[in-house]
Amino acid sequence: MTRTVETEIVIVGSGTAGATLAKELSAAGKKVALLEKGKREIRLGRMRDGLRFYEKHTFLKSKEGTILYGTSMVGGTSVVASGNALRCQQKELADLGIDLEKDFLEAEQELKAAPLPDKCISQGVIKLLQSARSLGLEPKRVPKFIDPNKCKVCGYCVLGCRYNAKWSAVNYVDRALKNGALLMTGTRAVKVLTANGRANGVEAVDSKGPLKILADIVILSAGGIHTPIILQRSGVDKAGKKMFCDPFITTYGISRDTNQTKGINAPMYIIKPGRFIAFPFIDPPVQFTLYNGWKPLLGQFPRMKALGMMVKIADEPIGKVNANGSIEKPITSKDKDKFKEGNKIVKELLIKAGANPKSVSTIRPIRGPHPGGTAAIGEVVNKNLETEIKNLFVCDNSVFPSAPGLPPILTIIALSKWLSKRLIANQRTI
Ligand SMILES: Cc1cc2nc3c(=O)[nH]c(=O)nc-3n(C[C@H](O)[C@H](O)[C@H](O)COP(=O)(O)OP(=O)(O)OC[C@H]3O[C@@H](n4cnc5c(N)ncnc54)[C@H](O)[C@@H]3O)c2cc1C
Repeated sequence: MTRTVETEIVIVGSGTAGATLAKELSAAGKKVALLEKGKREIRLGRMRDGLRFYEKHTFLKSKEGTILYGTSMVGGTSVVASGNALRCQQKELADLGIDLEKDFLEAEQELKAAPLPDKCISQGVIKLLQSARSLGLEPKRVPKFIDPNKCKVCGYCVLGCRYNAKWSAVNYVDRALKNGALLMTGTRAVKVLTANGRANGVEAVDSKGPLKILADIVILSAGGIHTPIILQRSGVDKAGKKMFCDPFITTYGISRDTNQTKGINAPMYIIKPGRFIAFPFIDPPVQFTLYNGWKPLLGQFPRMKALGMMVKIADEPIGKVNANGSIEKPITSKDKDKFKEGNKIVKELLIKAGANPKSVSTIRPIRGPHPGGTAAIGEVVNKNLETEIKNLFVCDNSVFPSAPGLPPILTIIALSKWLSKRLIANQRTI
């Protein structure tokens, strides 16, 4: 017999969005069940940890070969974030009637977003900063959700923080648990249950078999790839289109006298709005050793001599996530032009900072760290984030109206706070 759990609100996914919703809604006295297909990961920060919880061990790819990142774990992809706290999509969402100013301020305060002190910045990045200024660029310090007093400057934020110096959505999950929320780990949502055109729960599966979580409200926060799969399985066929992923490329050069190892990644950025953002960035060796054709790079770019930067763009939202999980994400000629423009500047910068010009090269494949847009506002959900199925809401990277080309965590938290307040006030229209 199928087991049944009854609650008021069921949230699928305990990442940035799901954890924020669970915290806010439970704090207001709502009975919340939070479903998470992954488990609570205790060991973080080492190479093999990353391989354990990244989707498909970091090998989730589009048909065209772009790597798409996400994790399966309590806290979702926030656990492997670089700690960058930049606002994005504020104007785009305001134009739709979603004013997030107050929620952004709340999020920034809770995450203590601030630039890091110089002790967290490597010599290599200091050189890149100086070079950027001398080239007339205007580098800015990135506000981070990293506590500099706890940070050991290992540079492995993207493998999860073993020193608990970085905020992650696990902090919010724990707050939700204190408020009485129920966290169901190892529980994969399969589809949304409906009756008379209204959502009334979720069909899921855990290690003991199938189960039903019955609820008055269902919120999908399974991320830009899994949310549209669940929607399509639940009859919302228009989900999964218009996917973006904010793709990035990384360029390295060899310097004789400096490197970026004793510092955190992405402490500063250079931006050309609408075109690209560039950060100093060095991959953890795990990626060097794993990706096809990258192994020789470890020899070519020993970390103790490497300077590196990533160029990230807002890509054209023409990708697709299909119900069977296959993904299509062409990189268009407009996308390539943006990469070219950003990479020209990055190469100049690396050389100015001391990289041997002959050593400077860009590595492949292209990687997409922020898949989203697959249940966009105005396409799949209305301005209230509700789908065509009443009481079925979506809140995560999927609802963004366009590619931000910027770190989305702050915006996802702000949007989740905004939706929570409306659900608490039972406000259903904009
Ligand atoms: C390496 C890396 C570094 C990044 N750095 C930054 C940064 O510095 N700043 C920033 O703003 N952004 C950063 N990002 C992006 C950011 O982490 C994500 O965009 C954001 O966390 C996405 O939040 P989400 O709630 O949409 O989804 P996720 O955080 O991905 O959460 C989705 C959750 O749903 C669960 N789930 C999926 N399917 C199911 C199912 N069927 N049933 C139950 N559970 C399910 C997943 O296991 C996951 O826990 C980074 C991303 C990567 C990959």
